[in-house]
This record gives sequence, structure tokens and C-alpha cells, in this order.
Amino acid sequence: AKTAGRRGERFFTNEMEAQLEARHTLEADLRKAVANHEFELNYQPLFDIGAQRICGFEALLRWNHPTRGRVSPVEFIPLAEELGLIVDIGRWVLLQACTDAAGWPEDVKVAVNVSAIQFTHGNLPEDVSTALTTSGLAPARLEIEITESVLMENREEALPILHALKQRGLRVAMDDFGTGYSSLSYLSSFPFDKIKIDKSFVTDIVENREAFAIIRAIILLGDALGMRVTVEGVETGEQLALLEQEACDEIQGYHISPPRPLADVPKLLSGSWET
Ligand code: C2E
Ligand code: CA
Ligand code: CA
Ligand code: CA
Repeated sequence: AKTAGRRGERFFTNEMEAQLEARHTLEADLRKAVANHEFELNYQPLFDIGAQRICGFEALLRWNHPTRGRVSPVEFIPLAEELGLIVDIGRWVLLQACTDAAGWPEDVKVAVNVSAIQFTHGNLPEDVSTALTTSGLAPARLEIEITESVLMENREEALPILHALKQRGLRVAMDDFGTGYSSLSYLSSFPFDKIKIDKSFVTDIVENREAFAIIRAIILLGDALGMRVTVEGVETGEQLALLEQEACDEIQGYHISPPRPLADVPKLLSGSWET
């Protein structure tokens, strides 16, 4: 039994060492990635149901690693937050997204994700102003996406920051709505222009009456509070058909298009998403 125990420990240790080493390599690579221009933004359409057209795009960060290929943001953004690199990366994302969007038609918006550390420890309102001035993008065309957990972690600071952003004329959206722990009353105490209902709520709406009842209730809540309502993760025409009967303003998801490189934006706007 002793031998087995030791072997068990040894195995565990080796695995931990390997994980640590992999992490250190990724860490070192991530530090270099900013300087080496390994980041790229992809754009996923926001589809306006009422107007039946694409009304904007969400900027989604991609890391093209020199040897590992594409690393998912789910993997490297938490690491970038821990290392404090997210503030610099986030600044780059803001400026790049605004610069790209300045080249689109004037009625097309751009949505940018902001992480917790960027929200509080950077100087977000100032970074936003810089990005807008440098790019020449009209403030009303920029939307900042913030998750519920960001608000929960920074209750005190959140409100003044949100107001500062809104004072600059841009819009703020609550991202991944329904996945956090905030009480519903939070929704009315923060000046959000939009809620983005998390994709987990749309998955079963065609097959499951209860799932549909839940998403309907969330849509109604957002609508009653005067916010624009976006449903994320719409993958099929059947899902869209159900949402079209509700007070849902916009959808986003593979049914319209997955995130695409900047070069594909004109093609998406010209309507080839209808295939
Ligand atoms: P998110 O902000 O909720 O972005 C939506 C995610 O859902 C994207 O994953 C997108 O590719 C994916 N998605 C879109 N439509 C569908 C669909 O129909 N079905 C399914 N299953 N998924 C869909 P992605 O690009 O891997 O990004 C993951 C997360 O990484 C984002 O979630 C966001 O939290 C974070 N992220 C991405 N870019 C940035 C950034 O520039 N800054 C920060 N702070 N976070 C970012
Ligand atoms: Ca988002
Ligand atoms: Ca989301
Ligand atoms: Ca509405």
C-alpha cells in the first residue's frame, strides 16, 4: 500500500510540475505577444431583429501563438488578468476596435469586452476617450460590455465608472446576463443600455417549454426596464423564430455568423449572412 501511495504522490507531483512548466511558458509567451503583434480582433455580427439587418459587431480577441496556433481567450484572458497584462491588452483592443469600426458605415456599432481588472485598475474612461479621439469614431457607436461579476467585485467603484463612460456618450451593456450572482435589483441600480442574455439560456428553448419560459421572462424583464435586449448563442433558425415573437431586439450567434476576421465585415454587411 505504501509503494502505491508513493507512486501516486510521485505521479501527482510530476503532473503538477508539467502543468506549472506549461503555465510558465505560456506566461512568458503572453508577455511577448503584445510587443510581437500576435493579437488580432475577430468580429461577430449583432443582428437587429426589427430592422432585419446587422447593426453592429462584437470585437473578440484572438491570440495567434507562433507555435501553438490559436489560443482561446478563455485560456489566456484569465492569465493576462493575473499578470496584470490585461490593462495593456485591453487598451490595444479598444483602440483597434474603434479604428476598425471608424471604417464601417455610420449606422454600424462596435462592442468591446472589458474585464474586471481593466474596469477598475486601469483608467477606463480615459482609455476610452483616447481611443475615440485617436480613431475619430463617434462615441455613440461604441458599446462597452461588462459582466455581472465585474460589478459584484467592485460595487463601490462601479457606479461612478459607468457614469463616466455614459457621460462620454457611449453605451454600456451587461454581458452574460443570468450567469452571475447579482440580485435582479442590481439591474435597475446600474445605468445599463442593454442586457446580453447568456447563451446557456437559449440552448434548449425549442425542445423545452420551461427553458423557453425562462428566457421569455428575462427578455420581458430587460424590456420592462427600458433596456435593449440581446440574446447570445442563437445557433438555429428555429431558435430565432421563437425569439422573433418576443421583445428581443437583437441576436448574436452562429446562426447569423461566427466571429470573422475584419476583412469579412463588408461581405457580412452586404447580406451574405443569409445563406
Ligand atoms: P463573450 O463576451 O460572452 O463572447 C461570446 C463568445 O461566444 C465568443 O467566444 C463567441 O465566439 C462565442 N459564440 C458566439 N456565438 C456562438 C454560438 O452561437 N454558439 C456558441 N456555442 N458560442 C458562440 P470567444 O470568442 O471564444 O470568447 C470567449 C470569451 O472571452 C468572451 O465571451 C469574453 O468573455 C472573452 N473575451 C473575448 N475577447 C475579449 C477581449 O477583447 N477582452 C476581454 N476582456 N475579454 C474578451
Ligand atoms: Ca461579450
Ligand atoms: Ca457573453
Ligand atoms: Ca426592447
